Amino acid sequence: MTAAELDAADPLAGFRDEFELPEGTYLVGNSLGALPRAARAHVAHEMDRWATLGGEAHFDGPLGWKGYHELLSGPLADLVGAHPDEVVAMNALTVNLHLLLVSFYRPTPRRHKVLIEDRAFPSDHFAVESQIRQRGYDPAASLVTVAPRDGEELLRREDVLAAIAELGDELALVLLPGVQYYTGQVLPMAEIAAAGHEAGAVVGLDLAHAVGNVELALHDWGVDFAVWCSYKYLNGGPGGVGAAYVHRDHVADPDLPKLHGWWGTDPTTRFAMATTFDAIPTAESWQLSNAPILPMAALRASLDVFGRAGGMGPLRRKAELMIDHLDRRLDEVLAGRVENLAPTVLAERGCQSALRIVAGDGRRVFEALQEARVWCDWREPDAIRAAPVPLYNSFADLDRLVEVLDMVTR
Ligand SMILES: *Cc1c(COP(=O)(O)O)cnc(C)c1O
Repeated sequence: MTAAELDAADPLAGFRDEFELPEGTYLVGNSLGALPRAARAHVAHEMDRWATLGGEAHFDGPLGWKGYHELLSGPLADLVGAHPDEVVAMNALTVNLHLLLVSFYRPTPRRHKVLIEDRAFPSDHFAVESQIRQRGYDPAASLVTVAPRDGEELLRREDVLAAIAELGDELALVLLPGVQYYTGQVLPMAEIAAAGHEAGAVVGLDLAHAVGNVELALHDWGVDFAVWCSYKYLNGGPGGVGAAYVHRDHVADPDLPKLHGWWGTDPTTRFAMATTFDAIPTAESWQLSNAPILPMAALRASLDVFGRAGGMGPLRRKAELMIDHLDRRLDEVLAGRVENLAPTVLAERGCQSALRIVAGDGRRVFEALQEARVWCDWREPDAIRAAPVPLYNSFADLDRLVEVLDMVTR
C-alpha cells in the first residue's frame, strides 16, 4: 500500500490534530514528544486555581493538589502493565533511579555485582557507579557490563541471559533498558526478569524509551522496579515529571531501606506534622516532596490522549505498520546507501530507527535533513535517529524522510 492509502485507512489519523507540531516533519518524539494541544488548557486551569484559590487549591476536592499525583497513577499503570498502587509519578528519571537503587541495591560481600549494558545511557551508568561507591564497593569489581558482539550493534538475547546466569550468586541487581536508546532495540524484558530471579537477583528496568512506545506487562513479568521519564513518548513536556514502578511484592515491605520525605507518609496524618513515618502502602511511599502540579497537568492532558486512542494496543499496531512501511521504502529507494541499525525482527523493534549513512558523512546528511525541516536527532558516533510516533506521525511523514534522504545521499 502507498503512504496515502495507509494514512486513509489509519484509525488513529485524527489524533495528529490534537498536537501542535513544529513546522516540517517531526520525527524526534523519542527525544521530546510533541505538545498535546489540551496541555495548554490543563496547565491554564491549574494557573487559574492558583490565582483564585491560592493555597486552598491543595484541598479543592478530588482534583486538589494534595492528591493530584494520584490522578496519574492509573493511566500510567495502564501504559506499563501494572496496578495503580505499583506506580507513582514523581521527580525525574535519574532521581527515581537513585531512590529505587537505595531500596533495591543491597550488596553483600558475596552478592554485590550489578549488571548493566556496556552502552548504557550515561546517566544510568553514573547512577549505578555512584551507588556502588556509596555502599563501600568498587565499581571495578562490582559493575559488570554486557555488550553486543564484536562487529554487531545489537545485544543478543542469549548473551544477556548467559551473563545473568554466569554471575549467579554474585549478582545483586540487573538494570537494563526496556528499549535501547541508540538502536531502538527492545530487550526481552520478561526473560530478563525470569533469569534475574533465577539467579537470586533483583531486576530493574529503565523504560525511558519503552514507555508509550511498546507494550509492557511489568507486573506479570515480575519486574521488581522500573523508572521512566515523561518527556519522550509520553509527551509530558521538557523536563516533565518522571515516574516509578515497584512490584506489589515490595510496595509495602517495611524492611526495604528507603529515603523518607513527608509526601511518603499517610496523607490523613501528614498535616498533623507528627514525626513518625507512616509509609503509604503503595509506590507513593517513595515520594519525598509535594508534587509539581504544572508539569503534571501537562502530562494528564497527554495521558488522556493515550486513553482515548485506546492505549498501547492500537498504537503498537500502527507502529508495526509504520516500521514495515519505512523499511520497505528505505529498501526500495536507498538500498546500499543507508543502513538501519535497528533490529529487523518486529518484536525487537520500537518506533525508532537508527540510520547510518553507508558512504558519506552522516553528520552532513543529518544537517541536510534539518535544513529540509525533517527533524531527526544525531547520536554520536554515527546514528541519525528517527522515531515515527503513531499518535501524531503519518505514513506520508515516512515518505518525506525517505525522499529527503534520497536527495541528500546521492
Ligand atoms: C532520556 C534518558 C534518561 C534521562 O534522564 P533524566 O533524569 O530524565 O534527565 C536517562 N536514561 C535513559 C536511558 C534515557 O533514555
